[in-house]
Amino acid sequence: MEAELIVRMLEKMEIIDVNQTIEEFESTTKDAERVQRETLKKILEENGSAEYLQNLGLNGSTDPESFKACVPLVTHKDLEPYIQRIADGDTSPILTGKAITTISLSSGTTQGKPKLVPFNDELMETTMQIYRTSFAFRNREFPVGNGKALQFIYSSKQFKTKGGLNAGTATTNVYRNSQFKEGMKGMQSQCCSPDEVIFGPDFHQSLYCHLLCGLIFREEIQLVFSTFAHSLVHAFRTFELVWEELCADIREGELSSRITVPSIRTAMSKILKPDPESADLIHKKCSGLSNWYGLIPELFPNAKYIYGIMTGSMEPYLKKLRHYARDVPLMSADYGSSEGWIGANVNPTLPPELATFAVLPNIGYFEFIPLRENVEDQVLGIEPKPVGLTEVKVGEEYEIVVTNVAGLYRYRLGDVVKIMGFHNSTPEMKFICRRNLMLTINIDKNTEKDLQLSVEEAAKVLAEEKQEVVDFTSHVDLSTDPGHYVIFWEISSEVHLHEEALQECCNCLDRSFLDAGYIGSRKVNAIGPLELRVLHKGTFQKILDHYLGLGAAVSQFKTPRCVSLANNTVLQILCNNVAKNYFSTAFR
Ligand code: AMP
Repeated sequence: MEAELIVRMLEKMEIIDVNQTIEEFESTTKDAERVQRETLKKILEENGSAEYLQNLGLNGSTDPESFKACVPLVTHKDLEPYIQRIADGDTSPILTGKAITTISLSSGTTQGKPKLVPFNDELMETTMQIYRTSFAFRNREFPVGNGKALQFIYSSKQFKTKGGLNAGTATTNVYRNSQFKEGMKGMQSQCCSPDEVIFGPDFHQSLYCHLLCGLIFREEIQLVFSTFAHSLVHAFRTFELVWEELCADIREGELSSRITVPSIRTAMSKILKPDPESADLIHKKCSGLSNWYGLIPELFPNAKYIYGIMTGSMEPYLKKLRHYARDVPLMSADYGSSEGWIGANVNPTLPPELATFAVLPNIGYFEFIPLRENVEDQVLGIEPKPVGLTEVKVGEEYEIVVTNVAGLYRYRLGDVVKIMGFHNSTPEMKFICRRNLMLTINIDKNTEKDLQLSVEEAAKVLAEEKQEVVDFTSHVDLSTDPGHYVIFWEISSEVHLHEEALQECCNCLDRSFLDAGYIGSRKVNAIGPLELRVLHKGTFQKILDHYLGLGAAVSQFKTPRCVSLANNTVLQILCNNVAKNYFSTAFR
């Protein structure tokens, strides 16, 4: 009895003190400029012996002015040779004072191949700091009780680099880190699935078991999570296909033969017991749903919210997610990358479309390249001048430059953000898009966001036919003269659609790009009619599988929204799976 009491007390102690965490955040953001200076100083002191910094002649200076004067802005390509040496086993101080022992693979959806970036305990600590901060704000509004979280999290393949360093996606490195499990306990967000499921070698089997564990613990589930919203929608679309099998497993207490990994079978056998009553109830609930509307609250009556990154390229999945969620709030998660975290969502009550991220001034040193003032400089080839964290202006768009605790200095992340306001003296920003993701043929410039808006417009035509866009991407086809935009769509059912409806979707896509350069070029036929290519069902699953084969993890997967010739394999998958195509007759 006494032992049990002690265990309970220990468990209680681990839970994060919401008020204290919020207070800490308030205090660091009140004097963001000073905190930024201190953070830079700390980073440069700890890594002053690194060859990269030594060669730049900082000579021990740690102030922002010297730093900016000596250290150039770089992209991943510039740092590749250094990171490669680390991966190949050179343990001398190259980018950091302490040798790097782990490498993260970014999702690599932009370039088509994963990038290697350094990972260390300091970066892990900043990750947990971001998680704790947004948890504190979230929990103040929507407290989760004791229970479990249904988390669609997966590990990527881990491998050793030539030099023997562990390498995996950043999320895998995080999930494997001991700080993660402890931290999650403190946030009452422990995953309901056993580790063998999270770290299983086959994501299809892991997903099935995540769903099964969710059903077994359905009454206890407090929240539903995945890193990116894509995995949430993907999980429940899969549920629609396998729900009867899941019910059968629960009824018999016998795991489906589709699960073949021995460690997963052993782990699942410990929690799966015959429960015909529960199986019947779940079966009845599912059968009673209309087109799966409200699936999540029906299955998980105590789920307080659904959590994951829902902004940027994840926005197109919101409609489907809301359909499954009914009245369960959707809460957009924080903003970061394999290169490090940047901001926390401290306004959890805002809908995902309005979500902003407050930068934590003590997790890295941040600079912002103004995009508006820069067009002329760009033409003249002048290096853009970034401004500091507290110098950004509300309403302006910037590209983010990161100096982190794991050996990246003045690193251009390639993301565009817009400043929406300030929390104390730190900016709150909205994620806009990747900077280099652009549909362009001549003077036209359409970003990922423009593409998304255009697809949203055209999807309304489809909705009238009771169909939806499952996923989409695009390509600039310059093999025709003039070149033209190609939009690829996978739709819920390609067979029962009227030709006229799809032709209208195609015209609508073409008309919905509002960029003046595009409209002007279309009018004079300097850009050819937009082409809509409707894909066979399952094409985007093939693309996901392709990325997983390259070492990506489902947890970090983002559908590439623009596929260039350089991303040849994905382009081939798309082109080989076209069911029908249409050319726009708008602008005739
Ligand atoms: P990865 O390359 O897998 O590390 O993914 C990092 C990228 O995902 C970032 O550079 C962003 O482009 C995107 N991303 C991360 N967090 C968010 C967010 N909250 N909203 C929108 N996009 C995000």
